[in-house]
Amino acid sequence: MKEYKYKYEMHMHTAWASACGHSAPEEMARAYFEAGYRGVVITDHFLRGNTAVDRSLPWEDKMRAYWRPYEAARAWAQGKEFTVLFGVEHYYGDGKEVLTYGIDLDFLLSHPDLHEYSLEDYCAAVHEAGGFLSHAHPFRHASYLNGDIPPHVEHMDAIEVFNFYNHDEDNDQAAALAKDTGLLTTSGGDEHICTGDGIGRAGVVFAQAPRDNKEFVALLRAGDYKLNVKGQIVEKDWGQR
Ligand SMILES: [Zn+2]
Ligand SMILES: [Zn+2]
Repeated sequence: MKEYKYKYEMHMHTAWASACGHSAPEEMARAYFEAGYRGVVITDHFLRGNTAVDRSLPWEDKMRAYWRPYEAARAWAQGKEFTVLFGVEHYYGDGKEVLTYGIDLDFLLSHPDLHEYSLEDYCAAVHEAGGFLSHAHPFRHASYLNGDIPPHVEHMDAIEVFNFYNHDEDNDQAAALAKDTGLLTTSGGDEHICTGDGIGRAGVVFAQAPRDNKEFVALLRAGDYKLNVKGQIVEKDWGQR
C-alpha cells in the first residue's frame, strides 16, 4: 500500500511579492521545512491582486520581481530535502482568484499583460503550457469580495476545497461544488507569515515527492494525492458527503 507522507503547501505568500505578506521567502520556506513539509508552492498575489510588485515597471522587470521570492526560497532549500515550486495566485475579477501551478518565468515573459487576459484565455494559456489551475477559496465571505458573483470553475482543473483561513461553511460549499462538477480538489494554508497556524494544517500529501513542476502537475492530474485538512490526512473527496 502506498504511504502518503510527503507534504506540500499549495498556497502561500511572501512579503516580497504580496503586499499582505509578512515574511521573507526564506523564512517561509524554513517554517514549512521545520514543520515537516517536503515542499511548498509560492503563490504570491499577481498583478490585478494584492501584489507588492511595482506595476509601473516594464513587463520583464515586473515578472523578474515577481519571480524573485521563488529564486530566494529555492536558493535557501539547496542541499535540503525540500522542494520549492513556483506558482501564481491570479485575481480574475469580483474578488475571485485562481491558483496556478506548473508555469515558470519563461511563461510569464512570453505572455505580456497576462493579468489582463480574460479568464478563459488565461486558463487556455496556462493549460497550453502544461499548467494546472485550482479555484482559490471559491466561497470565501469577506468584505473585499462580491458574494453575489459565483466562482467560474468551468476552465479549471480543481477547486480549493479546504482553505485554512476560511470559515467551515465556506469550505463545505467549495466541497459541494467539487462534488457537483467532478473537479479535483486542493487544500491550502494561504499563509502570509512564517509563524502562521496554517503551517502544518493544510496542503496536499503525495506518496512520492515531486521534484519539479512536471512531476508535481502529473501527480495532481492523476489525482494521486491526499489532502491535509487541519493537520489530518484525508481523501480528496473530503467534505463531499
Ligand atoms: Zn494576501
Ligand atoms: Zn492567497
